[in-house]
Amino acid sequence: MKLDKLPRFNLAEFPTPIHHLRTLTKGCQGPSIYMKRDDLTSLGMGGNKTRKLEFLIGQALADGADTLVTAGGIQSNHCRLTAAAACKAGLDCDLVLNGTKPEVPKGNLLLDKIFKARVHYCDRENRDTRLFQVAGDLTARGKKPFVIPLGGSNAMGSVGYVNAMIELKDQLTSMKFTPDAIVFASSSGGTQAGLTLGAKVTGFAGQILGISIDQVKTGEDSFLPILEKIANETAQRIGVDMVLTETDFSLNCDYLGAGYARPGDLEFNAIDDLAQQEGILLGPVYTARAMGGLLDLIQRKLFTKDQSVLFWHTGGTPELFAWADRF
Ligand SMILES: *Cc1c(COP(=O)(O)O)cnc(C)c1O
Repeated sequence: MKLDKLPRFNLAEFPTPIHHLRTLTKGCQGPSIYMKRDDLTSLGMGGNKTRKLEFLIGQALADGADTLVTAGGIQSNHCRLTAAAACKAGLDCDLVLNGTKPEVPKGNLLLDKIFKARVHYCDRENRDTRLFQVAGDLTARGKKPFVIPLGGSNAMGSVGYVNAMIELKDQLTSMKFTPDAIVFASSSGGTQAGLTLGAKVTGFAGQILGISIDQVKTGEDSFLPILEKIANETAQRIGVDMVLTETDFSLNCDYLGAGYARPGDLEFNAIDDLAQQEGILLGPVYTARAMGGLLDLIQRKLFTKDQSVLFWHTGGTPELFAWADRF
């Protein structure tokens, strides 16, 4: 495996801690619930994109780029962390955000401004075209842009989550603990592809269960071929001789609610539960939906009392401030 030889730019301290959620576990009367705290990655308010960006920016610097260009929703955690990482790496940052410019920036958008990213607003339909337009304009002006896809979810970024499984394995060995399942929010696929490939690489036997935030499993728009593609390109990038197929991925699509970035009771109840029982914050868009899903699966007895589940907290807490009205 050549993961250690890939270019990498250090953005945070690792390993992130693992916490046992005692009060939540007691209240659920189900499996023991643990949490891997990737919300605590020590850059710009934390989150899962940090691990991907270490490898993406490593490559950008190796390529001699001077500007990071990426896209997302107006409350994108990925865009906020790309802007923060650009500051640390001494690069410029252009963000293409779908949505209209608000009078007062809140949540992640406020942080984008503080991290001095140039923000380009557009419609959801035009986002990809706009991304390459912005990059083209930079090139025309003599700059060297490095385009990062939505969520940093390509083989380069996904390596960060293979590496995270290696990190987790060492932690679990010293804790003498093996969870029966790892549960997390899944959306653009880099996290799930990396964790699933990483489980194979490290021989982790438990289930790797993505709770879909906005993706479906069946039909023309199925997420499974995308996960398969990212995972197999990631395997090639790290030089492991493994091929994953669609059946290697566990994806639950039962908690899509009213759609992307439209949290409801499931999400706000999970936010209250975790805050009031454990002092831990979740974000309404991703982690509250995934935790709400997990708590519902526990209610439905999907896990037994003698089992244990590790919820991988992927961050997103600055989203909370964009939903102040709801509290
Ligand atoms: C981006 C994001 C996810 C989803 O990760 P993907 O790799 O895009 O599937 C989950 N949680 C948070 C907080 C995120 O910002």
